[in-house]
Amino acid sequence: MIVHDVAGELLAYGRELEAQGAAQVGDSFTGDQDADAVLENPNAFLIGVLFTQGIAAERAWAGPHLLAQRLGTLDLGYLAAHPEAVRHAVQTPPMLHRFKETLPQWIIAAAVRLIENYDSDASAIWPAGDRVVDVIARLGEFQGIGRKKAVMAVEILTRHFGVELAGRECSQVAYDVQVRRVFLRSGLVDEDSSVAIEAAASAAYPSSPGTLDLPAWLIGRQSCRPRKPLCDSCRLGAVCPRHVWLDVVGVGSRGARSNGSDSTRQT
Ligand code: SF4
Repeated sequence: MIVHDVAGELLAYGRELEAQGAAQVGDSFTGDQDADAVLENPNAFLIGVLFTQGIAAERAWAGPHLLAQRLGTLDLGYLAAHPEAVRHAVQTPPMLHRFKETLPQWIIAAAVRLIENYDSDASAIWPAGDRVVDVIARLGEFQGIGRKKAVMAVEILTRHFGVELAGRECSQVAYDVQVRRVFLRSGLVDEDSSVAIEAAASAAYPSSPGTLDLPAWLIGRQSCRPRKPLCDSCRLGAVCPRHVWLDVVGVGSRGARSNGSDSTRQT
């Protein structure tokens, strides 16, 4: 029962990461304490989620810190009232993101939405005790946040920031290139589709499918590389059927976890 063993090992890894309160790689998002500290602010975290697409994950999560350095503030009122300044801050070389036109729009729209709908406090999107499915839906109402980014954000909120949400059976893995590759090569799915991958995650751990998200992403990034996967040192190496000839299609190198159109996520 190779699939069962793979699911079990992936779940064991996911539980370890949850027990550690892992951010992304270890206890860090960015490898920089100052940039990580900025993300403790819920509004900055939400802006960070907007960055998590099409660029390396560490660079994406450093986005709010770098943006604050360039603007002198992440005050929502300032962001909403100064769209040209936001655009300039993102686009000034070295650019903060390769989506130089859409990212500033997303940031400005998020600031306006937070002011108008959440009393300028993003934590009101995910109040303790609320349901995962509702938080995912609210996040998805922001420009630049689709299902992939929303489910990723929920996992980080619960695992790393300790937000207690109900209905974890509605959590999910993000349909991300690393997750997809690992699910394919390890035999958890035999087709690369969001429906198949979410179903496999739900079957592997019905009470909290999202627990499998970070371990799959880490394995994909660190071991299950597109070329020359490091099977012998992989966490799944002893149980994986090693279908290394399979790979995802239709994506480039992954940046961070992804968006409303959600085509990429993270490196
Ligand atoms: S690196 Fe090898 S052992 Fe690990 S998930 Fe990929 S194919 Fe399986």
